[in-house]
Amino acid sequence: MGEIELIVGCMFCGKTRELLRKIRMELVSERKVQLFKPIIDNRYDNKSIITHDKDNLTAIPVESTEDIYNYLEDDVNVICIDEIQFFDDKIVDFCLEQANRNKKIIASGLNLDFRGEPFKFRNSNKHIGELMPYSLVYHLRAICKYKKDDSKICGRPADFSQRLIDGKPASYNSPLILVGAEETYEARCRKHFFILKNNKMKQEKDSI
Ligand SMILES: [Zn+2]
Repeated sequence: MGEIELIVGCMFCGKTRELLRKIRMELVSERKVQLFKPIIDNRYDNKSIITHDKDNLTAIPVESTEDIYNYLEDDVNVICIDEIQFFDDKIVDFCLEQANRNKKIIASGLNLDFRGEPFKFRNSNKHIGELMPYSLVYHLRAICKYKKDDSKICGRPADFSQRLIDGKPASYNSPLILVGAEETYEARCRKHFFILKNNKMKQEKDSI
């Protein structure tokens, strides 16, 4: 039978790098690999390109889960999916179905959104957690980049993606697409992850 591997974590934790490392190992094992990546806002960047000896593996940009079937080759051994959180929720059944067809799935993606809540698939309440009971899960962590004035960065392990708009923590209801403001992200630990709710700063307190 096939299997599913998930690489999850916040931004800057090295998910795509780990996915590419795993793909290289599959190519060394002479498995046939296909890599899919969602098209986001009609943008597609070409960064996920792997060269292994004579093999060139380019991420195939797809609009939806249905779209994957248009490119899926029958004799593929390993189906890789980058940025799985940007798909529709049919991706859950797709992964389970392909694992039952003796395929190996390796997917990477964000587990939490900028609000610190499970990252929902497109137009759905489902999220990557639906796949976790059926998967080997690699949970990667980044480094907290929080810095007060001129002090050193915090440096603790980070599981949250802090959204900053013009340098300040984004509010809970801030729009996903911003016009005319500078938007950045930083990896943060639980203590330094801030979200503005009802104009009051809410801090995720460390319960330990
Ligand atoms: Zn911190």
